[in-house]
Amino acid sequence: MVDLTLTFLGTGTSQGVPMLTCDCAVCHSSDPRDQRTRASIYLETPESSFVVDTGPDFRMQALRERIHRVDAVVFTHAHTDHIMGFDDLRAYCPGGKEMPVYGSADTLGLVQKAFAFAFDGHNRFPGYLHPVAHPVSAPFYIGATLLVPLPVPHGRTTTFGYLFIRHGRKRAAYLSDCKALPPAVLEEVRGVDTLILDALRRKEHPTHMNVEEALAAAEAVKPRQTWFTHLCHDLSHAELEPTLPSNVRIAYDGLKLHL
Ligand SMILES: [Zn+2]
Ligand SMILES: [Zn+2]
Ligand SMILES: [Zn+2]
Repeated sequence: MVDLTLTFLGTGTSQGVPMLTCDCAVCHSSDPRDQRTRASIYLETPESSFVVDTGPDFRMQALRERIHRVDAVVFTHAHTDHIMGFDDLRAYCPGGKEMPVYGSADTLGLVQKAFAFAFDGHNRFPGYLHPVAHPVSAPFYIGATLLVPLPVPHGRTTTFGYLFIRHGRKRAAYLSDCKALPPAVLEEVRGVDTLILDALRRKEHPTHMNVEEALAAAEAVKPRQTWFTHLCHDLSHAELEPTLPSNVRIAYDGLKLHL
C-alpha cells in the first residue's frame, strides 16, 4: 500500500548551493537540480504530516511545496542548517495549537536555547509558536508511522537518523548528517525499501560521508533504492548520477517519493 509521500524540501549542505560568493561551475549551473536548499524532508500520510528539520530555507520550501499542514517536527540535530527555520512553524499552529517537537534530549536542549522565547511560556499569544518538547531515545509514533531513532556519528556529535515504519514495513530511512553507519544502525535499517544517505562530496570529510563511503553504506544495507542528499557544490547532478549504480540516485529539491 502506498500511503507515505516523502518530499525532499532541501538536499544541500549547510551553506546551500549555490554558495554565497562562489563562482564555480556548479554554483552557476543552469540545471535546477544543482540548486540545493538546506536539507529537510516532509512526510505525508493519510492521518498525519510532519517535517524532519526546519533549516533556514524552511519558509521558502514550504511555500514552494504548498505545505498546508505540519502536525509535528522531528529534529536530526541542532546544527543551524537544520533548525533555523523553526519559528516559521507558527503558521501551522492556528489558535494556539501546540506543535510537538521530537529529537534527542541533547538536540532539544539546544533548540530550546536557540528559541528560548518560544519555549519559555511567556508571550504565549495565539499567533506565536507553541512548541512542546518530546525528547526521544526509543521508537515513537507520529500517527500510524513508527519512527526509530538511529544514532550516528557526525564529527564530535551524534545525530539521529530516522527509520520510518508503517504497517510493519520499513519504508524509508533518512540519514542526512552522518560519517558512518554503526553496526547497530546497519542491523536496524537492513531490509528498508528506501535509503536516504549523506553524500557530501567526493573528497573525504571529517563529519560527512563522501560518495565512496555512501556507496559502501548502500551496498551494506542493500535497499531497493538509495538516494543521496546533503550535497555540496563539488558535485554536479548531471555528472555524478550516471556514474552511480542504477538503484542509487541523487535527490533534488522538490523530488517526491511515493512509498
Ligand atoms: Zn547538515
Ligand atoms: Zn561553488
Ligand atoms: Zn550537521
